[in-house]
Amino acid sequence: MACCEKCMILTDDASCPSCGSEKIRDPKENDPVYLVESEAI
Ligand SMILES: [Zn+2]
Repeated sequence: MACCEKCMILTDDASCPSCGSEKIRDPKENDPVYLVESEAI
């Protein structure tokens, strides 16, 4: 599992499914991506 640096969303792909960016990295423990996931805005 990795996340897009721009969209802060989780993805299993090599590129972001939302913006198509390939700037995918492993999410950190305190990464905001988890907040976005849990709150489901
Ligand atoms: Zn993205």
